Amino acid sequence: MSPRLEDLPLRDDLRGMSPYGAPQARVPVALNVNENTHPVPKEVADDILDAVALALRDVNRYPDREFTQLREAFAEYLGHGLTREQLWAANGSNEVLQQVLQAFAGPGRTVFGFAPTYSMYPLLARGIGSRWVAGERGVDFTLDADSAAAQVAEAHPDVVLLCSPNNPTGTPMPIDVIERVYESTDGIVVVDEAYWEFAPRDERSALTLLPGRERLVVSRTMSKAFAFAGARVGYLAADPTVADALRLVRLPYHLSALTQAAAVAALAHAPTMLATVDDIVAQRDRISATLEALGYKPFESWTNFVLFGGVEDPAATWQGLYERGVLVRDVGLPRTLRVSAGTEEETSAFLDALASIDSAS
Ligand code: PMP
Repeated sequence: MSPRLEDLPLRDDLRGMSPYGAPQARVPVALNVNENTHPVPKEVADDILDAVALALRDVNRYPDREFTQLREAFAEYLGHGLTREQLWAANGSNEVLQQVLQAFAGPGRTVFGFAPTYSMYPLLARGIGSRWVAGERGVDFTLDADSAAAQVAEAHPDVVLLCSPNNPTGTPMPIDVIERVYESTDGIVVVDEAYWEFAPRDERSALTLLPGRERLVVSRTMSKAFAFAGARVGYLAADPTVADALRLVRLPYHLSALTQAAAVAALAHAPTMLATVDDIVAQRDRISATLEALGYKPFESWTNFVLFGGVEDPAATWQGLYERGVLVRDVGLPRTLRVSAGTEEETSAFLDALASIDSAS
């Protein structure tokens, strides 16, 4: 018989923790983990296959440890005058964030974020032995610069994680909040822009703040807008010295040759890969408008998902949707559920199923 977890010589600080656990149930309409539900376009998939086939010929050798071509491709995609020395990548932005915390936080240090926020932040922090400190948000999960700066100054964190826009609430993060938080700490400030491509086009990304701010890090992912979640590719832009710090903690050859080849091929088709963004944004706004009409309270979202309040019994509504073949997420915030914007058909399936349950309070 296998031992129970408590019987193993597990680290004391991991005892009693729960792993990240979004259900991976097979349902017709899965709208629970903010994926892009549109498949990779066929012409891009064909090119990716060719690139991977080519990379396979040399797969007996270790890959380029510096993933030079990929960093160049990311620099070109992001623009803002960035060069490949300022780019870094890993297997999903989760790994990017983990490497940042390994280099700049670690045992006995403090990681700070404004709750509710991405559920992996406390897990990543605790996983490397850091203390997680949660700051507070204002009404409807918003943040104002004075309050944010004061909270960060008081906490003296080694790393601040700012989710812009925020998961699981969708809330935009004003650029002055980022500027003021940066000024209020001498720690590393990470702006997690996992959902940035879904924000209004005329808004300023934190990338515009990078010049002259050597402690600022902007992380992104190919998992959302690029419809590439299964390939596991995340990246960041920062001062080149930040990449030097990450070289101290990354595993050698952490990005496989196949991953590098697939990502470079996908980035060569960036406009095609991103062609679904407008449709997803339209479905997101349709979700918000329809939820409002149904009597729920959708929160403002700059992402590919909507958090909505006014749900009398989230567990019951979640179950009702599940029984109708629709998977959404109960993120544990009272009287709310979160749904990702799918294709038009998937979005209709969700809205119809919800209307048939109708449990807005
Ligand atoms: N940051 C945020 C805010 C996220 O919501 C997610 C995925 N849910 C990630 C980072 C990690 O994404 P990935 O590891 O797939 O890049």
